[in-house]
Amino acid sequence: VENRTMQNAIDKSPLQVFVRAKKKINDIYGEIEEYVVETTQFINALHAEAEIVDKAERELFESYVNKVAAIREVLTRDHMKVAFFGRTSNGKSSVINAMLREKILPSGIGHTTNCFCQVEGCDGQEAYLMTEGSNEKLNVVNIKQLANALCQEKLSESSLVRIFWPRERCSLLRDDVVFVDSPGVDVSANLDDWIDNHCINADVFVLVLNAESTMTRAEKQFFHTVSQKLSKPNIFVLNNRWDASANEPEFQDSVKSQHTERCIDFLTKELKVSNEKEAAERVFFVSARETLQARLEEAKGNPPHLGAIAEGFQVRYFEFQDFERKFEECISQSAVKTKFEQHSSRGKSLSGDMCSMLDNIHERTTIFRNLKLDQKTLLTERIQGTETQMMQVTRDMKLKIHNMVEEVEQKVSKALNEEI
Ligand code: GDP
Repeated sequence: VENRTMQNAIDKSPLQVFVRAKKKINDIYGEIEEYVVETTQFINALHAEAEIVDKAERELFESYVNKVAAIREVLTRDHMKVAFFGRTSNGKSSVINAMLREKILPSGIGHTTNCFCQVEGCDGQEAYLMTEGSNEKLNVVNIKQLANALCQEKLSESSLVRIFWPRERCSLLRDDVVFVDSPGVDVSANLDDWIDNHCINADVFVLVLNAESTMTRAEKQFFHTVSQKLSKPNIFVLNNRWDASANEPEFQDSVKSQHTERCIDFLTKELKVSNEKEAAERVFFVSARETLQARLEEAKGNPPHLGAIAEGFQVRYFEFQDFERKFEECISQSAVKTKFEQHSSRGKSLSGDMCSMLDNIHERTTIFRNLKLDQKTLLTERIQGTETQMMQVTRDMKLKIHNMVEEVEQKVSKALNEEI
């Protein structure tokens, strides 16, 4: 029963839209690759036997094989990417840890991450770490050692440390979500480099604010730069450390509505990335530290409220879960659109090119046959056989490729529309 419940939860996760679309598109490209390889062999045979196809054409067709292989390679590496920004100590690392349900990234005083940290899933049981420009897999024994590695290494603020964490320990990693933690936006002036190097392909941005203060110029500036470079980035705003508001219950409502209004204004009037209704669905009041503590308790089999920091835990915990749900829907849809639409249109244009080339060859085969008949030369059984076979294969290939194009189109549009 437990397995079935787990399976249900997995099937219902919005991330599965991406996971399924990725699988389908991978399968389709697998088929395309088979066809293309088969057709290449056929074309090479045509060249060898009857010289209907010239060298340039053979080379062109072989380039299709490489193109399809390249798309497949990119496809298998496609993932959903979320990047976190905000001032140092607002709780970016804590939010990531809360979402991953484990203390993976070091957080707290003295553990300021002064480079970019990417957490992604890996197969197997062992976590490891890789720094930029090196293929060496460094062991990650514990969080303390990881923290030291991140601090001690002479890392420049825009370099990237990749943390590989066993997929099976976290459902978000298993579903191909990649997390990027950034140095505080107060630390750097190289926003352009940051964005170009680490954010240009992010599907979702999360701005982590400190609910105890107001949004700073640095935090705003960063997102202004982002929205100049990307059209309509998906931005979520977390007003973190909301547990602190429990100390001043008399101001809680007014502070909340003030923050909400400012965040909505920022998304709608300043950045112009969403309308009022959308923006209202993107602003949350949470406590990352508390959520992480609650989840660590849950993992031990305890009730989550044992992790509570202050009065009002349940509301904050629900709000964090609400954020996660909306985040999952958003990232999954966005990644399917941006990543697969491109591949499918490239696939279509590739199959179109191959199709017209085969048409051409087909035509020439016919001319060739007529020519031979006209000349009334002695046709051996073998040649005749080859010709008929050639005609047949060309026709088959055309049909296959034609069907394939239709299939790609149908499947992709189905995958894109599914559950959206
Ligand atoms: P980062 O620099 O933005 O990655 O911030 P960290 O995640 O390292 O958090 C800085 C400090 O704030 C740590 O000591 C966290 O435990 C603490 N912290 C993070 N989120 C919360 C929260 O929601 N409530 C409270 N009370 N403390 C938090």
